[in-house]
Amino acid sequence: MNTRRVAEKLGLSPERLGQLQGSIIRRSSWPQPRLLRFDKSASGVESGTVIFDNSEVVFGYPKIRRALVLEPAIKRFFPERVAVEEKMNGYNVRVASIDGDVVALTRGGYICPYSTEVAQRILPEEAFQDHPDMILCGEMVGPENPYVPKDIYPTDSIDFYLFDVAKKNSKGTLGVCKTREISEEFGIRTAAFFGEFKPDRAYVEITRIIKQLGKKGREGVVMKDPENLRPSIKYTCSESNCSDLASGFQYYNDYALDFFVSRAVREGFQSMEWKESEEERRKRAQRIGESILLPLVDTVERKMKGEQIVQEVQIRVKSIQTARDFEHHLRRSGTKAIFDQPEPYDDGYLVRIAKLVMSTNDKTQALLEGEMW
Ligand code: ATP
Ligand code: MG
Repeated sequence: MNTRRVAEKLGLSPERLGQLQGSIIRRSSWPQPRLLRFDKSASGVESGTVIFDNSEVVFGYPKIRRALVLEPAIKRFFPERVAVEEKMNGYNVRVASIDGDVVALTRGGYICPYSTEVAQRILPEEAFQDHPDMILCGEMVGPENPYVPKDIYPTDSIDFYLFDVAKKNSKGTLGVCKTREISEEFGIRTAAFFGEFKPDRAYVEITRIIKQLGKKGREGVVMKDPENLRPSIKYTCSESNCSDLASGFQYYNDYALDFFVSRAVREGFQSMEWKESEEERRKRAQRIGESILLPLVDTVERKMKGEQIVQEVQIRVKSIQTARDFEHHLRRSGTKAIFDQPEPYDDGYLVRIAKLVMSTNDKTQALLEGEMW
């Protein structure tokens, strides 16, 4: 790697880059190609930013801030127009071609072997032949998504939805117009586009969209500047907040406290902003309460019956090696999981995976034996 050139691309001095290499920048030697990754944000460089051995840089995908009260947030952050897209509920990948090989990077800047196989299967090779510097930023969604499995999209396996495009070696992303252009040119599926609105109509329109999406179990919206001059903002449906709470409380001791608090707070602000009737508010309260209590009781009862508390997911892969590599990938990211023997399926294999939620498992067992909280 050419330190001087890389430092320049990152907007750092070579000395600063050297300092970070001893701390925040970590090496990942597997799978190929080898890379350095920013484990945290530093000196204005997003976490998840990756430097490949050939000195190419893929910047981390920018954080998207969340509105809690929609109407003033729109007026404040999008005073002219706002483009509204569906927020897909899966996991973020950045797909790029490095020395001719397509790889999918996770948010943290690791190459995920499973996502890479999926990206190579779904995305047209020509896209990277025609634009070797292009990075496709998108969401992997579907029931065979081993991180956030969801049955709410039109796929029985996993699918990639493009939501942004970036260029190697340059910060920031290219925004809605370029994304649509690339999607049309290469026939790549994108997150649904709901239209562009002026601030006076945006609140009403987005609220209507949110209610509709909520009924379908979808997550919410991302609001973007049509000219790509301002940062995007996200906003989610109550049903999605509640479904997060439900999965959180099922594995209550494996989630950070803020996961629960932030979702409960969103519900309070939405209820206020929508000026709900007493009946609507009670319905919401019931929905939140059920999302908390029912999964939690289910977990405790399962443990009482002597069951191991695990999260079951499955993936389909073309080669057994991908499954083995994915097992290694999960282990290195600190997830304990038990992989079943791959079963032949179509022209590949189906692999069932039990992700262990050790903390919830052990805590529940201890509490049932009379241990203190
Ligand atoms: P943050 O962006 O703050 O890191 P997070 O990692 O908790 O948040 P989310 O709350 O899911 O993630 O929100 C941001 C993510 O939403 C993006 O990183 C991206 O993966 C995903 N996303 C889904 N649909 C879109 C879309 N249409 N436009 C932009 N991002 C989208
Ligand atoms: Mg998400």
